[in-house]
Amino acid sequence: ENSPENSLSDSGVKVIVRMRPLKKADEEEGETIVQKMSNNTLAINGQTFTFDSVADTGATQLDMFQLVGAPLVENCLAGFNSSVFAYGQTGSGKTFTMWGPANALSGENLSGDQQGLTPRVFQRLFDRINEEQIKYTDKQLKYQCRCSFLEIYNEQITDLLDPSQRNLQIREDMQTGVYVENLREEYVLTMKDVTQLLIKSKNDGREWCKHGGLHVTNLGLSNRRTGSTSINAESSRSHSVFTCVVESRCKSMADGMSSLKTSRINLVDLAGSERQKLTGTAGERLKEAGNINRSLSQLGNDRCREEPVTVKLMAESSHTHMKNLINILAEISQTGKQRHIPYRDSRLTFLLQESLGGNAKLAMMCAISPAQSCKSETFSTLRFAQRAK
Ligand code: ADP
Ligand code: MG
Repeated sequence: ENSPENSLSDSGVKVIVRMRPLKKADEEEGETIVQKMSNNTLAINGQTFTFDSVADTGATQLDMFQLVGAPLVENCLAGFNSSVFAYGQTGSGKTFTMWGPANALSGENLSGDQQGLTPRVFQRLFDRINEEQIKYTDKQLKYQCRCSFLEIYNEQITDLLDPSQRNLQIREDMQTGVYVENLREEYVLTMKDVTQLLIKSKNDGREWCKHGGLHVTNLGLSNRRTGSTSINAESSRSHSVFTCVVESRCKSMADGMSSLKTSRINLVDLAGSERQKLTGTAGERLKEAGNINRSLSQLGNDRCREEPVTVKLMAESSHTHMKNLINILAEISQTGKQRHIPYRDSRLTFLLQESLGGNAKLAMMCAISPAQSCKSETFSTLRFAQRAK
């Protein structure tokens, strides 16, 4: 009854919750506090939440692909802009699901059982394109795919395929729609091209896989000097967006007329959904970078009660707007009522507006940990996820 191939075919936002296995450290602490009750329900503290699908600790990367990735490819080939957003607290398994284990991120290990959604999506996309291109006798179908990869941090866009391109601007034009000015786009024909793209970007000294690494460099700080706290703090505050534009040219054999269709796939690894706390270390680093105002140093200790406004803005703007937007889109699809959609309020939503509203297909992959220590963040993710459905 759970037909994965169709699970993104209705309008609205599809919400899939993935519960990661306990980590060793958590296991010592105790038991799992979240239980999968059925294909689409979870229970925590006696409270039940309902989504489109629930993947528990036993779910494999292939299961996730069948649930989220395969329908994404089909939707894109059907002409819809199609996106997956990985949402959840830092450490909950967003990047693991989107890309695979840590070494998959270097582009060198994008194969094997553990490979994540992105490489699987491309493998499927290329297979399907090859099928489609030879399927018809009454028309000639030709596909072209081009990829870009960017990061939004501190409301600034960096090109992860060419990090010399920083602080890129979003433009809008009548013909092309919304686009990022000067963003590098590379044509890809095979899985190898995608892998090469990632390796190349890494070998050029652009270790995008460390997220924070880029920014630390940008801020004039050495990557090596940065403790893991800070790396986490930075990576948990950045969104990465891998986009593939799929263009299909169709030429009719009968009259020679041709048409062009364009749709996009967006694979978005969102910033951690946890409420950002400013640790003493991060505070110092930011201050050192000259990026923060005086109020920070006044509050710059581990127990700061209130986050300085500047920090909140840079850390959470895109995230908060993304959340609001998903809620608004869900409400529109549930009630059928029109509402103003504030795409322009953040870089992320402005950039993706053509993939969020209208006929766009959206899947939220909400990652949670079943550990006791993550309880309050897990609750907050589940509440958001249920609202988004
Ligand atoms: P996030 O991107 O949400 O911060 P990660 O994807 O980096 O979290 O996951 C944190 C750690 O847990 C990583 O070492 C990752 O490989 C591991 N992990 C996450 N989800 C799973 C899973 N479903 N199975 C096995 N390991 C996982
Ligand atoms: Mg991550």
